[in-house]
Amino acid sequence: MSEPSRDTIFALSSGRPPAAIAVIRIAGPHARAALQALGVKVPEPRRVGFARFRDPASGEVIDEGLVLFFEGAKSEVGEDTAELQPHGGRAIIAALMAALGRLEGLRPAEAGEFTRRAFENGKLDLTAVEGLADLVMAETEGQRRQAYWQMRGTLGKQADAWREKLIRALALVEARIDFSDEGDVPEDLLAPAVAIARELAGEIGTALADGRRGERLREGLVVAIAGPPNAGKSTLLNRIARREAAIVSPYAGTTRDVIEVHLDLGGLPVTLLDTAGIRETDDPVEMEGVRRAQARAAEADLVLWVVDARDGAGAARPPAGQSAPAVWLVRNKADLIQGATSDPLPGASGLRSESKDGSNKSLKVMINGGLTARNELHSQISGLEFTLSAASGEGVSALLSALGRYAAAFLADSEPALITRARHRKALEDVLAALRRASTRPVADREDLLAEELRLAAQALGRLTGRVDVEDVLDVIFRDFCIGK
Ligand code: GDP
Repeated sequence: MSEPSRDTIFALSSGRPPAAIAVIRIAGPHARAALQALGVKVPEPRRVGFARFRDPASGEVIDEGLVLFFEGAKSEVGEDTAELQPHGGRAIIAALMAALGRLEGLRPAEAGEFTRRAFENGKLDLTAVEGLADLVMAETEGQRRQAYWQMRGTLGKQADAWREKLIRALALVEARIDFSDEGDVPEDLLAPAVAIARELAGEIGTALADGRRGERLREGLVVAIAGPPNAGKSTLLNRIARREAAIVSPYAGTTRDVIEVHLDLGGLPVTLLDTAGIRETDDPVEMEGVRRAQARAAEADLVLWVVDARDGAGAARPPAGQSAPAVWLVRNKADLIQGATSDPLPGASGLRSESKDGSNKSLKVMINGGLTARNELHSQISGLEFTLSAASGEGVSALLSALGRYAAAFLADSEPALITRARHRKALEDVLAALRRASTRPVADREDLLAEELRLAAQALGRLTGRVDVEDVLDVIFRDFCIGK
């Protein structure tokens, strides 16, 4: 690709037509010319204009609407950007897109290209780009909030601050290397550099010890519905999916694949997986589906083990011995138990009191105490039991409220999370490893080794934000540092 950023790109930025209004964005050096070609008077930057959009060839009016213009560096993309807001009809959009495509120097944008340019033009760092992507995909309040703050730079700013300190430490060591034979460099430059490395290691270590809070909120609490055949798993999932809070999305793949239902429980994301497809089969296509279903279920944070209530408590138990998530027992088909339907179902009044280990109480303690340690949660909460009827719906809301409470404790979001992706974690773990080596002997005593580790740490941090210009920053600091010479 030869200098793709010199093209002017355009795209429909709003959703699928038809809609009341559409937004077409044009970014690049020809954005202004493109507006003029459509017969539009370019409005003052950041002011709204009204215009008729004309076909450049015939001069015929295609539609009319609002138009905006943002100048180069002051735009979100960092290049001249124009925005057309015609009506959101298919023919209008098709005609405008076709007209733009015929203009010299213009081409349709590739997926994510506006944001990519914003990154390349220094408008967003990588963590902000990821925050923006998450913000668009956010399904719940919690996810939205976390994504918004990440887009605003919670992690990016922290990484920059760490990086600055790191480069200061590096400058000290470099000074020591470069000027060691000259008399006027203070003898002990290594000790303060090592002190900075230790301090940073402490801070980054603390940030990493967050129980994966941010990643969990991003991904949501994953709950697998499992149990023997005909227990009513699919019926339960369908019952839950019919609620307003649910967004059903079949997991891409074969028909035997996992069905996901995304729930918004009090603003927290919960994904229910139907693993009803897990059954014996010889069909290779089905087997692949089953394999995937099992893999997804094994990663779940919680399993709802559904059994037919008539089969008695000890009947089919979840397979033991797996490095298992917490398991709740759901006795389904309570409507078939004699007398059960005339009395309020035990499950309908809340958590079932028959839990052998008093986990009902533990749940309250856990929620009030805001415990977040995952293992602690699991040991306390395993053993919750519910009796309900997936067919009639009785008792289902009690299960859902318990799930909501579990999600709240599991995703405890008292403080905004810094780290929201495995990518962030990996980069910071690399930084921490280099800093730990830098803070201990023999590296801490050897200026060449120390410089190398600090440099590695700075590079790993650079990978996090996408800024790899360690040298540039070092030059500046180094010059300042040596100013007295
Ligand atoms: P799965 O194999 O675990 O997914 O079970 P299904 O959801 O396919 O249900 C098996 C059978 O049990 C179906 O005929 C359902 O209509 C029935 N069923 C499921 N839940 C209930 C329930 O709560 N009460 C009654 N009476 N029947 C149920």
